[in-house]
Amino acid sequence: MKSAVYPGSFDPITNGHISIIRRGLEIFDEVIVAVARNSEKKSLFTIPERLDMISEALSDTKGVRVDTFQGLLVDYVVEQKTNAILRGLRALSDFDYEFQLALMNRKLSRKVQTIFLMTDYKWLYVSSTIIKEAASLGGDINGLVPPIARERLAEKFPLLKARLTAGKNGH
Ligand code: ADP
Repeated sequence: MKSAVYPGSFDPITNGHISIIRRGLEIFDEVIVAVARNSEKKSLFTIPERLDMISEALSDTKGVRVDTFQGLLVDYVVEQKTNAILRGLRALSDFDYEFQLALMNRKLSRKVQTIFLMTDYKWLYVSSTIIKEAASLGGDINGLVPPIARERLAEKFPLLKARLTAGKNGH
């Protein structure tokens, strides 16, 4: 059985991430969605909240394992008895960082390979950051994130909650 580790912050999981996971499962038997605990980025959701959203969003998808890791990604990958890292690429803006990261990981372990999947054009502009920004201002991010993430975002952002409630009441 061949697994790949799909690492990231997933703060929160978006349909762009889900697309990469589903497509990864066409290549690998198992995709381990690994939420990084040591990211320097300030997060909106706690690690348990993020794990919960990922599990719920992918509950109907076979071959997905959800986990967290701390420390060096390549160490975690080897611990999982695999040698593959899955990453998604959106625009040129991702390329620079992803290239640096892949080369650094390659320097740290020659055994580990990074596999990139180009995003589907539908998710080209979708990032957790822009989703949070829109949601915080009350923008409805319907169709861009799984329903559970939309619900949880509404719990964090009153403007989004108000919009969703108004929608339900037919306003
Ligand atoms: P990070 O915090 O490392 O940027 P993210 O959780 O944002 O991680 O994303 C994890 C991986 O998913 C990265 O490889 C990122 O490029 C990819 N990704 C994020 N959003 C999308 C998207 N809309 N389409 C394809 N790949 C994406």
